[in-house]
Amino acid sequence: MKDELLKKVQFLKGVGPKWAKRLAKLNIETVYDLLYYFPREYEDRSKITPIKYTQIGEKVTFKAKVIKKEYKKIRNNFDIFKVTFSDDTDTVNGIWYNQSYLRDVFVEGDFYLLSGKISKKNWRKYKRKEMNNPVYEKLDGSSSVLNTGRIVPIYALTEGLSQRRLRRVMANALKNYLSYLDDKLPDFIQNKYNFPDIKTAILGMHFPKNNGHQKSSRQKLAFEEFFYLQLYALNKKEKNKNYEGIKHKYMGKYENEFLSQLDFDLTSAQKRVWREIRQDMERSEEMSRLLQGDVGSGKTIIAALALLESINNNYQGVFMAPTEILAEQHYLNFIELFKEFDFKIELITGSLKKSQRKKIEERITGGKVDLIIGTHALFQESLEYKKLALVVIDEQHRFGVEQRHRLKEKGDSPDFLIMTATPIPRSMAMLIYGDLDLSVIDEMPPGRKTIATFWRRKNRRKKIYAFLKDKIDEGRQGYIVCPLIEFSEEMPHLTSAEDLYEELKNSFFADYKLALLHSGIKADEKKEIMLKFRNGEIDILVATTVIEVGVDVSNASIMIIENAERFGLAQLHQLRGRVGRGEHQSFCILISDPPGEEAEQRLEIMCSSSDGFFIAEKDLKMRGPGEFFGTRQHGIDDLKVGSLTEDQPILEKARNEADNLLSISNWEKKYNELKKIIDQIELKI
Ligand code: ADP
Ligand code: MG
Repeated sequence: MKDELLKKVQFLKGVGPKWAKRLAKLNIETVYDLLYYFPREYEDRSKITPIKYTQIGEKVTFKAKVIKKEYKKIRNNFDIFKVTFSDDTDTVNGIWYNQSYLRDVFVEGDFYLLSGKISKKNWRKYKRKEMNNPVYEKLDGSSSVLNTGRIVPIYALTEGLSQRRLRRVMANALKNYLSYLDDKLPDFIQNKYNFPDIKTAILGMHFPKNNGHQKSSRQKLAFEEFFYLQLYALNKKEKNKNYEGIKHKYMGKYENEFLSQLDFDLTSAQKRVWREIRQDMERSEEMSRLLQGDVGSGKTIIAALALLESINNNYQGVFMAPTEILAEQHYLNFIELFKEFDFKIELITGSLKKSQRKKIEERITGGKVDLIIGTHALFQESLEYKKLALVVIDEQHRFGVEQRHRLKEKGDSPDFLIMTATPIPRSMAMLIYGDLDLSVIDEMPPGRKTIATFWRRKNRRKKIYAFLKDKIDEGRQGYIVCPLIEFSEEMPHLTSAEDLYEELKNSFFADYKLALLHSGIKADEKKEIMLKFRNGEIDILVATTVIEVGVDVSNASIMIIENAERFGLAQLHQLRGRVGRGEHQSFCILISDPPGEEAEQRLEIMCSSSDGFFIAEKDLKMRGPGEFFGTRQHGIDDLKVGSLTEDQPILEKARNEADNLLSISNWEKKYNELKKIIDQIELKI
């Protein structure tokens, strides 16, 4: 980047230390930052209407001459300044309060552009056309108009900084520094899409000549952002392929044996993703694949197939879950799934005693264990594998990239299968997991019924419990999820799991078997509760979100969520996914008193859709990418122009072009600038 662009804004014309401080609040430090500080929206004030034809109450712009000025001091701290404008068709008054300095701004006989609404009230009352606080711009023929008479940029501001000021500063910066910007996008791409050059595009973002100018500028800059991030991700993926990994041999015999003992057939989506995974495993490059599938789509069986293959190739496999409850469940599940096979399976969690752990570790290092299931505890330095070939990570969104790499370093480039039930919109996946291959289970096992979802007020609880009772009497089980473990003085309106458990156990459900489950309960006890619930010895589990992920009890068909307004869309979808896992019609009841507009929107989305992708898309739109993913990473928070929800087509194009570029031999030399850009992204991520 040219030095001029790195100049501090403080030294720009019309800025100085005071304004520089305010600009810094918007993360604007240098000229470059300023030029890349884009408007949050635009207002089209380009259409000039003769005063006579202006609509009362509408936003209008006109060009007129000052014919009269009146200044009135009403009280010590209150004054009114009134200017009458005329454009030969009619007159209109502009009225300003407490802005006496405007007396010198408006000069009789001079021309101005004005934008604003003509007050309905005054029109009705006095038949006078009047505007309060209109936007104005003097037409002196020398400097260009910034605030009206054109498409006007509206910036996000900070205290003490006005649109007028920022536009003025921006216009000056554009005038003096635009010429220092260079295009980094290769010409062949630039030409293919007919993008404006960078100078035209930056200008078009701030002061577009017309709508087309703004649109093409935005497209180019969005493309550019996506392009660099994709280039970075795909390049990294390419590099991964260079590691010599493990080449699995296909073990069809065992696979058939395994599949034939299941009491269902794989869905065609499961078959397809398994083929994709298998092909990766059979190649010598290491696999880095993301398996995406909505809650209940049957990812575990796919993981089992992959692990089976590794173990039958005489390697070790690791399966990692985000919580102890889940690790525990998967452990039991895999013992059951592999009962026909003579595999040694061990569970490693944080609650293992030191001596026990040591023993297991020794057996792992000695190659006496085939499958290791566990939580984060699997990362511990002390643990050494004998011949690790496959790492399966369940519910990836809870693990950082960092942790993934740490585990990776433990084996000789084991294959990686990362599973997530968060149905990340495709656009998001392309950026976040751009370095992974993607397999999607886009089909539910047959016979699943949609989970009937309702939103009910708190005062309907009795009815809801009666309904739950009926279902339990029919032989089903249910969950009641609360936002808190125990009562909180600060949030007295929230139902706590402890209170509700006590209340229900001693009243409504006195004759039923209830259990309480939350993160404060000891691991052993949790384990026992889950086992009992699985075996049908518990009717209702009153819990917190500890059950959010992966808990799988197909006889449970009722999910009641207390203070549902407290939960985000992704979380509600996960929680709801705990039911509807068997052949029974399932129900999800969201309890919430009218919670405000945004929460209400969430509840309505939940009631109207069970499609995880649809819900994720809405979630992304409502929360924005940073919030959505929970952490600031992958450069998606740095997107200034591109929108993950609106710009899918641009993102796809950017990915294709990044792919093309990487296939050019010696691209790093030929496009050295691009190499520098992605090295910088690497540093940031
Ligand atoms: P998730 O993708 O949420 O991890 P699971 O793997 O836990 O889903 O599967 C949910 C339930 O569906 C399990 O009880 C599993 O045995 C069952 N299941 C998986 N695949 C199929 C299938 N093809 N047909 C019927 N049931 C299936
Ligand atoms: Mg699962």
